[in-house]
Amino acid sequence: MKNENRTYLGVPAHRPRVGFFELSSCEGCQLQLLNNEATLLEFLDLVEIVQFREGMTERSDDYDIAFVEGSVTRDDEIMRLKGIRSQAALLVAFGSCACFGGVNQLKNRFLDQEWVKKSVYGDHSIATREAQPLSAHIKVDLEIFGCPVEKGEVERIVVNLVLGKTIEHPKYPVCMECKANENICLFDLGEPCLGLVTRAGCDAWCPNNRFGCWGCRGPAEVANIKQMQEVMKKYGIEAERVLDRLECFGGFAEVAASLRQQLRVTPNAGSHNDVR
Ligand code: SF4
Ligand code: SF4
Ligand code: SF4
Repeated sequence: MKNENRTYLGVPAHRPRVGFFELSSCEGCQLQLLNNEATLLEFLDLVEIVQFREGMTERSDDYDIAFVEGSVTRDDEIMRLKGIRSQAALLVAFGSCACFGGVNQLKNRFLDQEWVKKSVYGDHSIATREAQPLSAHIKVDLEIFGCPVEKGEVERIVVNLVLGKTIEHPKYPVCMECKANENICLFDLGEPCLGLVTRAGCDAWCPNNRFGCWGCRGPAEVANIKQMQEVMKKYGIEAERVLDRLECFGGFAEVAASLRQQLRVTPNAGSHNDVR
């Protein structure tokens, strides 16, 4: 069953064996795929899924492509990740936790990690470390952004993978999609938005629903950070509100760090007074 004589428009199409894995994550990205009932059967025809704990009980370690969701937050996950990498011809960082550390890396905002551990787990201490993206430990071949990933985009990427086509992410920011959808700009309604500098591909999901973008897909290739700062200033958005968004998913970590330095705003040291 490893290779079948399938064709797509007359072109031989290899049906790769695929495994889905999760490290520290909410499993929402994997759930997105399962939720896509309209095309799930066609998707399953395209690839042979051999491991997907959230969706099936069968399990094989013989796969070509590994989709890894979640970030690294424990030492044992590093070993597991390296094992998956050694098995897969192609490894995909699946979702923003895997690409940038995602919401898990919010804990890295606090200087005192012992305080974070104590606040969350109390006396039931567990082994946990700074949250990191997969690329901090292994070579990542492809990234699929989003918190969660956009299911249509995942399917398009997988079709291209199967057909051996180049995979390209949009270079332009969310604003382009937002404008194409004829939304009222949220700045005019008093809400900050990172759509100015965030990689498109979600069809401006948040602004379509009257929420400002929090940058879950990371920076657009042509992100003009200086212009974003000018817009934030023009609309009177406080630096901390901008930093909250820039630091939420990890994709803007460098931008946020340089902004903190520029504004001389220090990260939270962590204290019991901060627990609400
Ligand atoms: S990227 Fe978002 S949806 Fe996906 S696993 Fe991480 S937290 Fe969950
Ligand atoms: S709401 Fe956000 S994404 Fe839409 S145009 Fe304004 S800044 Fe851009
Ligand atoms: S609008 Fe921004 S935060 Fe919302 S899904 Fe798109 S990239 Fe993510």
